[in-house]
Amino acid sequence: MTDFLPWQQAPARHWLATRERFAHAWLIHSRPGCGQMEFALAGAASLLCESPRDGLACGECQACRWVKAGNHPDLRRIRPDDQAVREGALDVAEDAKKQPSREIRIEQIRSLLPWFNTATHRGGWRVALLYPAEALNTIAANALLKILEEPPEHTVFLLSAQAPDRLLPTLVSRCRRLTLAVPPVAESLAWLETQGVKDAAARLAAAGDAPLLALEQAQQGLPVMPAWLDLFLDQASQGGDGAVLADALQAGEPADWVDDFQRLWLDLSLCTHGLPPRYHPAQAARIKAVARGLDPAALARTADWLRDQRRLAHHPLNPKLLADHAARTLLQSVRPVRAAPKGRP
Ligand SMILES: [Zn+2]
Repeated sequence: MTDFLPWQQAPARHWLATRERFAHAWLIHSRPGCGQMEFALAGAASLLCESPRDGLACGECQACRWVKAGNHPDLRRIRPDDQAVREGALDVAEDAKKQPSREIRIEQIRSLLPWFNTATHRGGWRVALLYPAEALNTIAANALLKILEEPPEHTVFLLSAQAPDRLLPTLVSRCRRLTLAVPPVAESLAWLETQGVKDAAARLAAAGDAPLLALEQAQQGLPVMPAWLDLFLDQASQGGDGAVLADALQAGEPADWVDDFQRLWLDLSLCTHGLPPRYHPAQAARIKAVARGLDPAALARTADWLRDQRRLAHHPLNPKLLADHAARTLLQSVRPVRAAPKGRP
């Protein structure tokens, strides 16, 4: 896909209008699931297009055909192997014993060096697309930094990131930042409907208004309300001890369920303040029932705990222990506060 998403076209035109005095490195970022990687790729296609229409790639010229086919000589995609496998650009069977890397490695950055010395097609741009930039390991990030300190001619680096705070600050300081807003709900809904997504409104809300995330979840056939949240609400209202929930959490990826619980926690917190839930409006009655009588301060403490877990979730030391602990912590923190016994000193 080399076209901008519908909500990206106006900001893209604005951005590309300055292409004559373009910065040599851009950090393109937005919330996850809002299409920053798609924006960067469509941006590369537009920079390489030989007859752009209204600033954007025409989709028909030789350069556009090359970009679509993935073989434009002036475009390099630098991404972790696991991303390349997901795109179908790298065969897993090539080295089935090894897990595909989740990092952008220094060899990938070094392999760009000879490319900088080759002439570009008809003297146009050369575009290096790096995504997600968070996947750059420290050594690779430093190698890239060195290149950006003395940028090669006619070359634009487009880095796409969801969490720029996780990047090397010196690298960030070498890039112009382009922040993409969360698309307007109406535009996202219209787009999701063209993609054949049912329950688009509930999906979009559950995905925090991030349309690509909503689409991905629909395509994977995931329920709008993740199963562990469903189970949690049941267990919370029945006074469950956490064992059932722990089993469910253990079967999932901590990074996934921590994220889902962070969203549910915001919904619970909104309900304690008499506001409607944001992520799961269709489950308002159940969420309100659990939120009734809860102490907002206690909820906030658990929200902090969840935030800490989010940082560790990709590398839990002991997933079973984490699942057990999380199930108990989460359920305990939604037990209504009992009135203190009276008549005691
Ligand atoms: Zn074109």
